[in-house]
Amino acid sequence: RSNGEERIDYVYKVVVIGDSAVGKTQVLSRFTRNEFCFDSKSTIGVEFQTRTLTIKSKVVKAQIWDTAGQERYRAVTSAYYRGALGAMLVYDITKRESFDHVARWVEELRAHADNSIVIALIGNKVDLEDKRAVPSEDAVEFAENQGLYFFETSALTGDNVEAAFFKLLEEIYSMVS
Ligand code: GDP
Repeated sequence: RSNGEERIDYVYKVVVIGDSAVGKTQVLSRFTRNEFCFDSKSTIGVEFQTRTLTIKSKVVKAQIWDTAGQERYRAVTSAYYRGALGAMLVYDITKRESFDHVARWVEELRAHADNSIVIALIGNKVDLEDKRAVPSEDAVEFAENQGLYFFETSALTGDNVEAAFFKLLEEIYSMVS
């Protein structure tokens, strides 16, 4: 992939939200750099990461924003959501509480983001299946009721991370083009 000189047809802003420690930063770095860092939070202060990919022969630059820890202080502001075409709403399949808060995050999106924002619900850390606290069916039901796409991922193994982002970006593409 050549950077800089490539023709870019579209830039899509995507925000990653969800409770603290569910793996938002790791899901993001798995997608943009194919990396997983056990010593997380080295990225504090970084606003977004990008990855350029091809969707239906168009060159799309995904500009993916990380809360960079601000969710801890409820400081995720309207500026964060402004112009976002997609959202990855992440919970941790081993932390029931992080799933129970998903409805609150959806409300937050409905209040601050564009009405047409495409949302993917992401149950992360499926590599910890033996510690699962959220049955897939609960999330499937919630996603269906709310009109969200649903994926279970592992940022650690990389399982389904590409699939989730590609689905989100393809849906954005079909919505805006
Ligand atoms: P954030 O606060 O939502 O951005 O979460 P981080 O990306 O910082 O991850 C929080 C913790 O969960 C870190 O210790 C990560 O190493 C760990 N983590 C993130 N994703 C996964 C995953 O898919 N599997 C496992 N086992 N651990 C993960």
